[in-house]
Amino acid sequence: MEINPNFVLEDCPICRGSGFVVHEGGWNVQVECSDCSAHTVYVEYSNEKEKAEAEKQVVMLWNMGKVLKQDSMG
Ligand SMILES: [Zn+2]
Repeated sequence: MEINPNFVLEDCPICRGSGFVVHEGGWNVQVECSDCSAHTVYVEYSNEKEKAEAEKQVVMLWNMGKVLKQDSMG
């Protein structure tokens, strides 16, 4: 897990837990809640510049409350 101090994550819009940025496979990123497993959509990237943009995008989605809540799946 990689923590980037350049952005601020709000509390989880569902449960007020803490969210964190998750990079997976070195080509996509999402923000996920450590408590209730709510998460944003994945944003894909293919280079360092896109990676920074992708991080910004998922953080923005998270902070706006645009999250998905896992129901029966998983
Ligand atoms: Zn949560």
